[in-house]
Amino acid sequence: MPKMMRAVQVSKPGGAFELVERELPEPASGQIRIQVEACGICHSDALVKFGAYPGLSLPRIPGHEIAGRVEKVGANVTEWKKGDRVGVGWHGGHCFVCNACRKGLFINCERQQITGISYDGGYAEYVMVPHEAAARIPEKLDAAEAAPLLCAGITTYSPLHHWGVGPGQKVGIVGLGGLGHMGVKIAAALGAHVVLFTTSPDKTADALRLGASEVVVSKDAAAMQKHAGSFDFILDTVSAVHDLNAYLELLKLDATLTQVGAPPQPVPLSVFGLIFKRRRLAGSAIGGIRETQEMLDFCAEHGLTADVEVIRIQEINAAFERLKKGDVKYRFVIDMASLR
Ligand code: NAP
Ligand code: ZN
Repeated sequence: MPKMMRAVQVSKPGGAFELVERELPEPASGQIRIQVEACGICHSDALVKFGAYPGLSLPRIPGHEIAGRVEKVGANVTEWKKGDRVGVGWHGGHCFVCNACRKGLFINCERQQITGISYDGGYAEYVMVPHEAAARIPEKLDAAEAAPLLCAGITTYSPLHHWGVGPGQKVGIVGLGGLGHMGVKIAAALGAHVVLFTTSPDKTADALRLGASEVVVSKDAAAMQKHAGSFDFILDTVSAVHDLNAYLELLKLDATLTQVGAPPQPVPLSVFGLIFKRRRLAGSAIGGIRETQEMLDFCAEHGLTADVEVIRIQEINAAFERLKKGDVKYRFVIDMASLR
């Protein structure tokens, strides 16, 4: 009889998350099997739930904010051993030999694998990943609070780091959700003056507690106007279509608005907002594995983790409905002990 594990899968587009038993996979050469302790629920898991990611095949176990311990290693794995504390994010492995990999840009690998999309992810007792997809989670970080760092943390750290955010700069974070709340914490830890833009006035006190120096309710045109032409950098984490032009107007000469939030439909752009102050509109995806390790070490050093609402896996369908309505402070994390 094969050994079995319990997991949650999506088996048809738009269908419910279903609790199932699966055969426990055996690690092949170069793979590690991780016993999952906690897995965050990212807004991008909607891409699996609705079968919307190109090339996705169902059934699939979602989940790319994984914290756990190495439980078994395959042949030719030298850097990990049983018991190591590891995390796995969206980046689920790379080929090492394509043009991007040869430049060390593993996140841009032409054959990149995506955890919970190309293969089964972390909504399970165990997940199996290529050894290069794992990063070391410092022991001092709690598993449930650290799990969201593997997506929300690195997706905000990477652009903040890339665009050189630091002391003396005025930095905007748009949207206080899973990504946004980590963006506020990390930008503040990097020493910037952080302004949080939100559609939810009731999040003001939380934003200030998380590290923002100012909060602007984005529906208030007069409050937005007060900040015109004053930002060094703005990071937009909003998941729905909204007015980017209003944020471009807030940038200084040569400053950048970077989009990590991924509205499903095209957003209208007035190019005049770019032209007159030579402003830039950019995008950023997750972050490479080396940068993920750097982010985890930075978070451990600065005592940064996610604000989480820990749920049992049996509550996942209700939690996902709440996430769609923005009703979470600020990341749902599944405690995998509820599967055992
Ligand atoms: P989330 O927790 O649901 O947060 C999204 C936030 O956006 C909400 O809390 C809300 O903040 C704001 N918002 C929602 N609807 C809005 C609307 N109609 N108008 C204005 N603001 C609205 O989602 P998340 O997990 O942080 O993910 C955010 C987005 O990033 C998603 O699109 C996700 O797919 C994407 N993502 C991208 C990457 C990448 O690599 N680029 C990685 C992970 C996730 P307020 O209440 O404060 O307004
Ligand atoms: Zn994610």
